[in-house]
Amino acid sequence: MKKHHAEKLALALVFIFKCLLPVLPAVAGLLFWKKQYLLNYRRTLDKMKIHLNAISNGPVQHYFEDILRFNPEVCEPVQGHCSQCGNCCLNRQCVFLEQSGTDTYICGIYSSPLRRFSNCSSFPINGHDIERYQCPTYRVVSPYPVMHLQQI
Ligand code: SF4
Repeated sequence: MKKHHAEKLALALVFIFKCLLPVLPAVAGLLFWKKQYLLNYRRTLDKMKIHLNAISNGPVQHYFEDILRFNPEVCEPVQGHCSQCGNCCLNRQCVFLEQSGTDTYICGIYSSPLRRFSNCSSFPINGHDIERYQCPTYRVVSPYPVMHLQQI
């Protein structure tokens, strides 16, 4: 998708979400079958506001531009594992993120099939992704392995 189309779509989607904000905790509670979103309505609403501001700052556009219609031009080979630091979860501003240890986090909707319609399951697709969230454990690898010559 072209950059300016992605930009417009991102703006429209965020606008719709902002209009729906008062009911989003209820919608999320039902969609992801999580009663705590309903029980802690005020708290979830506050976190939703933070979440919406964070996704409007690039991630929604990135989704339309690169993820929704897989854009092979921006992909780079990456290697690593997830240490659950929570950086790529909107710098720990994701409303669905839950703390699992002193410095570790887990996704509260990880098993939901709806999670596929987000950037989350594709992270990281390239060095820009890694740098943007300062992921400590993934790195871009060269498609051409370096062969060190032995001295004889
Ligand atoms: S930034 Fe990297 S290590 Fe941290 S949660 Fe995301 S993938 Fe895992």
